Amino acid sequence: MSGWICDGIAKDGKNYPDLGGAHEPYENYSLDCEICGLPKGSEKPSSKIGLSKILSKPILGIFTVIIILLAVGSVAYFSGLIGGKRHLRTYEEALASGEEALSIVRTHTSPEELEQAQKQLNLAISKLSQIPPKAAIYVDAEAKMNSYDSLSLQIANKISNFELCAVEPKPDDCLF
Ligand SMILES: [Zn+2]
Repeated sequence: MSGWICDGIAKDGKNYPDLGGAHEPYENYSLDCEICGLPKGSEKPSSKIGLSKILSKPILGIFTVIIILLAVGSVAYFSGLIGGKRHLRTYEEALASGEEALSIVRTHTSPEELEQAQKQLNLAISKLSQIPPKAAIYVDAEAKMNSYDSLSLQIANKISNFELCAVEPKPDDCLF
């Protein structure tokens, strides 16, 4: 049997949970590595059935190419459509969270409610930040994100003011 070199790292794409672990390259003559237990064959990348193999049969190759082109084309087409719709939905969800935050801010009576509003705003901002620049709704999303950002800052200031004013006697610069 000819030897094979193992360095403890499986390269065949398979998982060997209890085996392996990088070690100096070691030449093995048995079926499993004497150092780390990886089996012979794991040191080589697994041979995949390449496209070139399929394409070597002319007619099959032509069909394959056509099917691949159709698949790629339709995926590109539909992902464009679905992507646009998805971004619009993300935008609408973000605005719903933003609106909720605003209505809490308008009616709040405690810092806890402001914290709730801030959570909603952060949710809205994180949703808006998922919308990529190529999306049609991006400009609107960016504008909303900026206004939510500054609102979030105002709320943070107000919350810290609440905390400031929670102590007795209230400091002079307390707004509430
Ligand atoms: Zn080994």
